[in-house]
Amino acid sequence: MANSKDKKNNVKIFLIIFGIVLISVMTILLVIYQTQKAEEKKVTYDQLYQDIIHKRVEKIEMTVGSSSVNVKYKDSDDEKTSNINSLQPFMEFVNEQLVKNDELKFDVKTPNKFITFAENLFSFIPTILLVVLIIMIFKMQGIGEKSKVYGENEENNTGVKFKDVAGLDEEKNELIEIVDFLKNPKKFQSMGAKIPKGILLYGKPGTGKTLIAKAIAGEANVPFISMSGSEFIEMFAGLGASRVRKLFEKAKKIAPCIVFIDEIDAIGSRRTSNSGAESENNQTLNQLLVEMDGFESNETIIVLAATNRPEMLDKALLRPGRFDRQITIPAPDLLGREEILKLYAKDKKLADNIDLKEIAGDTAGFTGAELSNLLNEAAILATRNKHKSIEKDDIESAVKKITVGLEKHNRVVSEKDKKLTAYHEAGHAVVSKFLETQDNVKEVSIIPRGLAGGYTMYKTNEDKYYISKTELEEKMIALLGGRAAEKIALNDISTGASNDIEVATGIARDMITVYGMSSSLGPISLKVDEPYELQIFGENITDEVGVQVKQLVDEAYIKAQKLILDNIDILHAVAQTLLERETISEDEFNAFFE
Ligand code: ADP
Ligand code: ZN
Repeated sequence: MANSKDKKNNVKIFLIIFGIVLISVMTILLVIYQTQKAEEKKVTYDQLYQDIIHKRVEKIEMTVGSSSVNVKYKDSDDEKTSNINSLQPFMEFVNEQLVKNDELKFDVKTPNKFITFAENLFSFIPTILLVVLIIMIFKMQGIGEKSKVYGENEENNTGVKFKDVAGLDEEKNELIEIVDFLKNPKKFQSMGAKIPKGILLYGKPGTGKTLIAKAIAGEANVPFISMSGSEFIEMFAGLGASRVRKLFEKAKKIAPCIVFIDEIDAIGSRRTSNSGAESENNQTLNQLLVEMDGFESNETIIVLAATNRPEMLDKALLRPGRFDRQITIPAPDLLGREEILKLYAKDKKLADNIDLKEIAGDTAGFTGAELSNLLNEAAILATRNKHKSIEKDDIESAVKKITVGLEKHNRVVSEKDKKLTAYHEAGHAVVSKFLETQDNVKEVSIIPRGLAGGYTMYKTNEDKYYISKTELEEKMIALLGGRAAEKIALNDISTGASNDIEVATGIARDMITVYGMSSSLGPISLKVDEPYELQIFGENITDEVGVQVKQLVDEAYIKAQKLILDNIDILHAVAQTLLERETISEDEFNAFFE
């Protein structure tokens, strides 16, 4: 939910830059204008001399202490000025002329202090404005005295309730007691219970971590102060720690309250060396630890922090009295997705034949944010397509848009690329058909979307909590089916398979080092944070990991090639149809195998 905050900051930064540019431009224009004006009005001494002699001048005015004179000409209203190099000869000359010429007037003025002051002030205005602006910037950064902490957000009442958080029932249950703590701290304290200080929420972006933190504040009716970890360390160095301190000072003033720190990994990542940005990080983290240890449990400040990279966090953060409670916020399961869809469908005009359960089935892996986005995209598409209500194909297009990116109809694709893509995607699809554990193909297409030249979409109907070894192996075969088809049918290979290869290799590596699925190494976890940690296993083992990973990938590739060779006619037929029609539906695809 960092969006509106980011926008506000962007607007601020924009205004500051705009202000600086405006003032600079004004200053430059003013200076140019003034010098030009002065240039226009200048008369050289020689010229003035001539003009006086030829009686073109009406009046000469001199200001005490000034080295220039004002000259009024007979035929003009404008006054001009002229520099007098040496006063004495000029005065002699003027006196001479005054005697000769009755019409010439001469006047001596004492300077008007007020006008001089005002003139000076006028030329200082840009400078003053600039200084004011710089002070403002510094105040916003938290350098000024009683300034607001930059990037911090405070809501007295979030207005969010648990009912606004769909699914996540267990997580809500676990957090409901926090609401109780915040509402009746006395009740717990008199029992001698310590109120938890910190709760860490683990989960992908968009799974509703911010939302649930706001809901806790909303249910307990306490203020919600939030700040993002990345904001603590951005802009001026050395400010992170002071910002943390200010944040907690404020929290203590308004307690009971919720402090929410988004992206805590930005400050709380493992402390390492003492150089540059890292020591800045360490200072901020140390300050956070000091603050967490500092406030008393009777102050009832509950700090919620969110991250999607728990493995990055400094272990010190997780000690008792700090973030000693950790709750994983998972991507919603089938039921959760249906509930989230229901929640966001309330204010949408859906066609009667739309079954939210079915959509939930097609959107495995979507986060709450993506589901809400999905219905919104569908509504936009329906409006654009001039439908009376949101129809099935609007939703399907929206799903595709979110999963594979926007269709790029106008990207020019050469015939050769098209053929390569057709065989590549047909390869994925055909191979998958023969893999028991793999999902059925829903659509194959060579219409470019996002970065991909084409795509094969699978139907997913169930959420899986465990994945078997066979399933992982078959997944690798399906991934390498694209490359196998390119190689066999066209005897050429392309960079288009790079992502498939990366994913497949990743699966193989995890099978060996994380899931302990290797026959020679056995159930051992070789997952390490730092490469040197592998040293304890010795070279024999680390070499063996490499051998085993390669063997798994090789095997999968061989099996993929075999499946392609066995079904080469179908591959040609599917690829040919793709080239003609660009997209093949599930039924059309299955017809090839009848
Ligand atoms: P995170 O903090 O985990 O990145 P957010 O809480 O900011 O995610 O979620 C972004 C948006 O996604 C929310 O404002 C909400 O609209 C929607 N959302 C996410 N999860 C849920 C959920 N379980 N129920 C309802 N809406 C959700
Ligand atoms: Zn591919």
